[in-house]
Amino acid sequence: MIYVHVPFCKRFCTYCDFYSEIADEGCFKAYADSVCAEIRQRAGEMDDDPKTLYFGGGTPSVLPLSVLTRILIALDEAGHGGPYREFTMEVNPEDLVEKGPSYVESLLSLGVNRISIGVQSFDDGMLRWMNRRHDAAGAKEAYRIAREAGADNISLDLIFGVSHLTDEVWADTVDQTVALDPEHISCYQLTVEGESALADMVADGRYKEADDNLCRRHYDMLCQKLHAAGYHHYEISNFAKEGFEAVHNSGYWARRPYVGIGPGAHSFQGKTRSWNSKVLSGWKSTTETLSDEDARVEAVMLALRTDKGIDADFLHGNCSKEAIGWLAQSGALVRVGNRYRIPEDHFFVSDEIIRELI
Ligand code: SF4
Repeated sequence: MIYVHVPFCKRFCTYCDFYSEIADEGCFKAYADSVCAEIRQRAGEMDDDPKTLYFGGGTPSVLPLSVLTRILIALDEAGHGGPYREFTMEVNPEDLVEKGPSYVESLLSLGVNRISIGVQSFDDGMLRWMNRRHDAAGAKEAYRIAREAGADNISLDLIFGVSHLTDEVWADTVDQTVALDPEHISCYQLTVEGESALADMVADGRYKEADDNLCRRHYDMLCQKLHAAGYHHYEISNFAKEGFEAVHNSGYWARRPYVGIGPGAHSFQGKTRSWNSKVLSGWKSTTETLSDEDARVEAVMLALRTDKGIDADFLHGNCSKEAIGWLAQSGALVRVGNRYRIPEDHFFVSDEIIRELI
């Protein structure tokens, strides 16, 4: 599993504190030189089970195709070229609209087989508040372009948990998403991240966080609507048509090793975790060894995010039997064969359930 971080955006969204820089042509070469050097250095760490490649950001769709091609050639020369079982490219709607169908066709011909579009909302007021570059019509146009160019595995990202998001607007956004018929939908609750513009807005009183009741109501609406539309709710924030569950992200939840290339990217090698510094070229890596306790907590937290849940013997051997007992009795944990899982109607409070267990 290989992740490549593309640290460029054309504008910063209100809620985001991912590492990224405003894109300009001058910085792509230095970035690509460093990415290719890191690929050569770390080829031996790359594990092809499952063989997935994920370009995330930032905004990978601002990357010129020539730079993307250079990185793919470097992976090929390092012995980890395509075809990949899953090759995801995150894109922003306005880039698809601006670059048109030929851009999507080029992505597909380079081996991309999954396109993740950052829609976030189908309400123009909400998109303006988020400081996104696109509007609702642009998001739909981007989807149409991707589909007509031949993309057959499209994921749409949404955000809920905004304090001024009304039930009507949220229902409409989910309905419009379903009407497009994407293979996959990711939906994340807004959180106030440390370095984001939203954190400043909270600090000086321009934004008050949404209360739990509103978030719960909108999460329930989402689950009901997507269930009715036939989506498989396979992870707290992720829904897929059968057979379109994300392979790469499922690897994260199963704690498979992965190599993160690029500034700010994280890697995991079973016993160690490392992360790259956040500079546009020549980044350095820092590694920490996970203690048994870190590994235990992480394994429980990640597995219980999914509908596959966790091996019952592992849970009994690593968590309080008393907590397992009362959580199972109250319906917050269910046993299916030799596994425990959090049922969908308790996903919203999974953090509290996991805290009880660990
Ligand atoms: S949400 Fe995406 S496009 Fe917006 S600032 Fe963050 S990385 Fe850039």
